[in-house]
Amino acid sequence: MFDLSGMNALVTGASGGIGSAIATALASRGARVALSGSNGQKLRAFREQLIEETGNPEHGDHVEITCDLSNAEQVEELIPATLDTLGGIDILVNNAGITRDNLAMRMKDEEWDDVVRINLEAAFRLMRASARPMMKARFGRIVNITSVVGATGNPGQMNYAAAKAGVTGMTKSFAAEVASRGITANCIAPGFIRTAMTSSLDEKQQDAINSRIPMGRMGEGGDIGAAAVFLASREAGYVTGETLHVNGGMAMLG
Ligand code: NAP
Repeated sequence: MFDLSGMNALVTGASGGIGSAIATALASRGARVALSGSNGQKLRAFREQLIEETGNPEHGDHVEITCDLSNAEQVEELIPATLDTLGGIDILVNNAGITRDNLAMRMKDEEWDDVVRINLEAAFRLMRASARPMMKARFGRIVNITSVVGATGNPGQMNYAAAKAGVTGMTKSFAAEVASRGITANCIAPGFIRTAMTSSLDEKQQDAINSRIPMGRMGEGGDIGAAAVFLASREAGYVTGETLHVNGGMAMLG
């Protein structure tokens, strides 16, 4: 079950906390992964680590593709570059994301634009570009990483919540368009996940967060990786247009 051998995946934001866990989870199930991010140095270091942990001689090793998702021209080149290096794309994980938090009254146009461009528009461009090769192959898996905040809202995050909610709507529309071609499109909405950012919070701040989570702890990157493996698998072929909430019960949104 959930064997991804022979499948090619592109993961954006692959050097980050959650992206690296998703890439590791997909690779450990046999997928060959194109790792993307804007910082080539970080990507290279992670790729070497991943190859050491999960190198798959049968399908070749994982590759890295540098791409600044705030630059539309670079985004348009990412799927063609993936096809060139991997030879195909079965799984697209739109994971890269940024926050530029501010209260509504103080939010600058650039803070809105940056968040929408990277979290929403880049995901749209990559889904559009992967539609053709996936339709031709009559198989594809799109996994978009949103956030609990896209469903609940959050003070100081009008831009981020709008972008994440936008990804949800976009995913459902795409899912309906391509369902008959063997392509699924779903979202994973993490709650609080332990990453470098949350680890830097002091104990009191972490306790305050944990007290809001019925499971009493933040999630791990691997919790998101496991959800991504499921949605990317052949076995999940009848699941589409859905959002899988992975938040330890913090918001039971079903
Ligand atoms: P992270 O550690 O900050 O990683 C973000 C990733 O996005 C990095 O790999 C970064 O790569 C990439 N990225 C940022 N700007 C980019 C750009 N302009 N071009 C290309 N890549 C760019 O964040 P994370 O916590 O793992 O979050 C991953 C996803 O999960 C995001 O979509 C986030 O919204 C979502 N999420 C996270 C949490 C959480 O608790 N951590 C909760 C809910 C949802 P470079 O450094 O190479 O640019």
